Amino acid sequence: MKAAILSGKGGTGKTTVSTHLAALFPDALYVDMDVEEPNGDLFLNPEWNDRIPVSVIYPEIDNDKCTHCRNCAAFCRFNALIAGKALTISMKEICHGCGGCALVCPSDAIRYRERIIGYVSRGITRFGSPIISGKMDVGEFSGVPLIDRIRTMDRTEALQIIDSPPGTSCTTVAAVEGCDLAVIVTEPTPFALSDMKRTVEMLRTMKLPFAVVINKAGMGDRGVYDYCRDESIDILGEIPFSLELAGAYATGVMLDSVSPQLQKEYRKIMDGMKRKAGMPGVAV
Ligand code: SF4
Ligand code: SF4
Repeated sequence: MKAAILSGKGGTGKTTVSTHLAALFPDALYVDMDVEEPNGDLFLNPEWNDRIPVSVIYPEIDNDKCTHCRNCAAFCRFNALIAGKALTISMKEICHGCGGCALVCPSDAIRYRERIIGYVSRGITRFGSPIISGKMDVGEFSGVPLIDRIRTMDRTEALQIIDSPPGTSCTTVAAVEGCDLAVIVTEPTPFALSDMKRTVEMLRTMKLPFAVVINKAGMGDRGVYDYCRDESIDILGEIPFSLELAGAYATGVMLDSVSPQLQKEYRKIMDGMKRKAGMPGVAV
């Protein structure tokens, strides 16, 4: 089962839930696809075995050959090429590496170069479970190539927890694609509910089964509960709001210091996830 853990916005507890599940079920592969801000490793303290660079291509223009016909600039829908009367330049930071501009150049003036935009690492967490984590370099604009790289890696584990980017961006869609189900982690607040509705819309468009986990239960209002009831969305579990938990999160402490009741809640969440994916549940 590949389960994407996502949220309508950052900071709702997506990584808290993902890492606790990974720690409680050490046969699971934890995959940090939140490549712009991966922080699961802060809690899982892995020992890394492998670090793979991820590159994209960008065009380099030979202005001695260029006739400034503007074909390439007209072709590029990302506006990554500027063709002036005397000079044509490419902006590698916004190029999506589609490779199309060279095809429309009549003067053979375009060559592609590669540049590294981040790394994918593989290792073993302090709980003995496997981990893969992507990290995009600062200043890059799209983490999709990193997510694509992770998706092509050998991942044979029967249980995979995909810590996905928040929101409904193309990186979120790329991370969620191919999963068996999604779990939206949200908070019982009007702000979180508003963001969650967009995530629900995205998942329904993708026709992916999904359910909800409520983090910081006990604070806020009943809006999320009412919405889930009206929309027939399952709530798999609730992580109660507590200052102790917030403090533990801030210092990167997990599981070893949380109560048996909370561990039981996480088991209940995993049980719900497996049943939703059509698999046998787990003992709670
Ligand atoms: S490779 Fe594609 S995205 Fe990049 S500059 Fe050329 S046409 Fe634009
Ligand atoms: S398509 Fe080729 S020749 Fe035309 S402006 Fe671009 S690089 Fe120059």
